[in-house]
Amino acid sequence: MAVYLDHHATTPLDARVLDAMMPYLTDAYGNPSSQSHRWGWQAEAAVEHARERLAGTLAAVPDELVFTSGATESNNMLILGLLQKRARKGNHLITCTTEHRSVVDVAERWRTLGGAVTYLDVDSNGLIDPQHLAQACRQETVLISVMYANNEIGVVQPIDLLAEIAHERGIAFHCDGVQAYGKLSVDWSHVDMISLSAHKLYGPKGVGVAVIRRRPNVRIMAQQVGGGQENGRRAGTLNVAGIVGFAEAAELAFDEVGQESKRLGELRTRLWQGLKSIYPKAIINGHQSLRLPGNLNVSFMGIPSAKILLEAHDIALSAGSACSSGTGEPSHVIRALSSDPERAQCAIRFGLGRSTSETDINQTLERFSKLISKLT
Ligand code: PMP
Repeated sequence: MAVYLDHHATTPLDARVLDAMMPYLTDAYGNPSSQSHRWGWQAEAAVEHARERLAGTLAAVPDELVFTSGATESNNMLILGLLQKRARKGNHLITCTTEHRSVVDVAERWRTLGGAVTYLDVDSNGLIDPQHLAQACRQETVLISVMYANNEIGVVQPIDLLAEIAHERGIAFHCDGVQAYGKLSVDWSHVDMISLSAHKLYGPKGVGVAVIRRRPNVRIMAQQVGGGQENGRRAGTLNVAGIVGFAEAAELAFDEVGQESKRLGELRTRLWQGLKSIYPKAIINGHQSLRLPGNLNVSFMGIPSAKILLEAHDIALSAGSACSSGTGEPSHVIRALSSDPERAQCAIRFGLGRSTSETDINQTLERFSKLISKLT
């Protein structure tokens, strides 16, 4: 038995995506910046077609999309890039305690560079209070960065309200959209800058998008300079096959989003009910309903997550985000929900996805039934 329930960390490459990429990994190997021959033109046409397809899913015009190596780079580039560009207007960034490390660490970098940062707290369900955001805004606030859906607890923030608060004050609004993109039906039109990654929606690793709307106050200072690609916003030869794969993966995800989220929501409910009956002391982390359909995060109070992970080694699970799983630190996201340290020490993230079947859920419940009796 082997069950993959770590779809927030990454997803398998869809076979249809690989098919779309294959020509650009083999015969069509031109560099899209080569403007003097047909190999280059062919690669450029593929990139521009992918840009149009992706823009269509984001209520964006193609030129607003910049290709990157993934969402970590997009977050770095958009947050630092905007703060540096607008430094004369102000130096204050507002973000949230439960953001992904690729936002929190960028905020900390900004602080070491002399900037000011406010971290908004979340309530016990993981949600930001829009009023707290309004109160935190100052004359010198130039950027607010809040993720759409959390990668550990799946909680979906009231992004439209938060963006409105930013816009009423002339502040730019950035959103790490990685976990929500293609998983929820989202109106992205209110968001000024968006970070996305292909490998969270059955596309390849190592390719991402940074959306920079053509709006006043939304400009960045390039973080990577060199060949002037992407209209000078991000230098470096483009990952043509990866970009083509990203567009294919996104369209497939958008075609299936309605039925897939319903299917995953039902499997997730079964999993939670099963776990709760196996171990009544289990607590769900994050809001019960305002969350990604494929996400369940549970604290098995009294049983450290490290022990559970060891016993459940043939089920791919995690105690926090994959990026921090090497540190052994209890999750900063769960710690933000509750002052009880046990809550974070005993948390397990279940990430359901396209490959998850009913059999997977049954096998997981059987395994948990055995391991919980062993560990209690
Ligand atoms: N933001 C969120 C919310 C994520 O889940 C991840 C991936 N763990 C990232 C950013 C970083 O994305 P990438 O792996 O493409 O660098």
